[in-house]
Amino acid sequence: MDKRQEKKTEQTKTKKPMGLTTKIFIGLIAGAVFGVILNYLVPAGAVKDDIIVNGILYVVGQGFIRLMQMLVVPLVFCSLVCGSMSIGDTKKLGSVGVKTLLFYLATTALAISVALSVGNLIDPGLGLDMSSIQAASTTVATTEATNFADTLLNIIPTNIFNGLAEGTMLQVIFFALIVGIILAKLGERVETVGNFFTQFNDVMMEMTMMVMKVAPIGVFCLIAKTFAGIGFSAFVPMLKYMFAVLLALAIQCFVVYLGLLKVFTGLNPIIFIKNFFPVMAFAFSTATSNATIPLSIDTLAAKMGVSKKISSFTIPLGATINMDGTAIMQGVAVVFAAQAYGIHLGMVDYLTVIGTATLASIGTAGVPGVGLITLTMVFNSVGLPVEAIALIMGIDRILDMTRTAVNITGDAVCTTIVASINKAVDRDVFNTSRQKKAVEIDR
Ligand code: ASP
Repeated sequence: MDKRQEKKTEQTKTKKPMGLTTKIFIGLIAGAVFGVILNYLVPAGAVKDDIIVNGILYVVGQGFIRLMQMLVVPLVFCSLVCGSMSIGDTKKLGSVGVKTLLFYLATTALAISVALSVGNLIDPGLGLDMSSIQAASTTVATTEATNFADTLLNIIPTNIFNGLAEGTMLQVIFFALIVGIILAKLGERVETVGNFFTQFNDVMMEMTMMVMKVAPIGVFCLIAKTFAGIGFSAFVPMLKYMFAVLLALAIQCFVVYLGLLKVFTGLNPIIFIKNFFPVMAFAFSTATSNATIPLSIDTLAAKMGVSKKISSFTIPLGATINMDGTAIMQGVAVVFAAQAYGIHLGMVDYLTVIGTATLASIGTAGVPGVGLITLTMVFNSVGLPVEAIALIMGIDRILDMTRTAVNITGDAVCTTIVASINKAVDRDVFNTSRQKKAVEIDR
């Protein structure tokens, strides 16, 4: 009896992400249909405007947005402290740690640049005029021309509690990174504080899951309100956004990664991608970087000849702090939202986005959907309204799956490069696995 129950809960646990995704998707479609009906078929009047659109839909939709915003500061703070604690440990590994870190940060910054370029090429948000419907909550303050020196100086908080209270993310990030590094440095002496942050991080992850449970209703209301205001004109921008994210992910994976691999190791990129493909497929189907860690380490060792000594450190670290695919989604989302709300982003804003999204990628946990939560902090950093996330959320699962595959490919490429620089790649294994069609792992 007990066992059966256990099995049942286990089954529902493993099924839960798919179930939720379907529900969110249904929320999106139903919301769009309802909104279009409201827009085209229901005549204007007190019932439609005051009770439905600006009453129920507005209150429930905004309530959901507020729940998401509520998570951001504590979630990012804790996961950054934990993330930088594990970076602090890299000292043990000396040069491998430093090189890995550099590659992880550089590839993420590159990823966002690719995303911003593709976003500006495809213009996913043009033609979508959101500014007219949700002007109330738009915060444009930070986009006003602040000079570069002040923007830089503003990263250092004069009072971290002000930074936390106002949600000034770069200050929060700055402080969290230092706390994490010090915790790692002091080690056992501050074990209790370290454990506190690790456990509080778990609490925040659980809270995130709870908030995501009401996402289908939130998405329904937000989308319905949007479509009630602008009708069909929102469809094409959403499809364009999706296409832009997928294109940028493909460029990062097949041009940037494989190019870097060729340049730094001389290894054949085609063999690499062929051998690594099962891991990518696994990441795609689970949308969870964390779950792919063992398979990734095994595949790199068995098919690519990468020393486990290196990969057993760099792959888990990458799954925690290196999320290039997520950063790409966030970069395109920034362009999308800015265009949809008619907010002009200048050079300083773009640099802020590159900085914040790189750090957000460190603060994003390797589980489904968290990239959307940390996206609020990227939006906040340049004064974009977080309501835009509602449009994106309904179609996010498929993008989440794809970006997770890119996230872990980035970890594997950096690992192979660092291993190759340290002469820890068995090139015979790498090259012969092509002919042998890899007998070691058949997952
Ligand atoms: N699902 C992603 C991962 O696990 C994180 C995200 O972008 O939401 O890598």
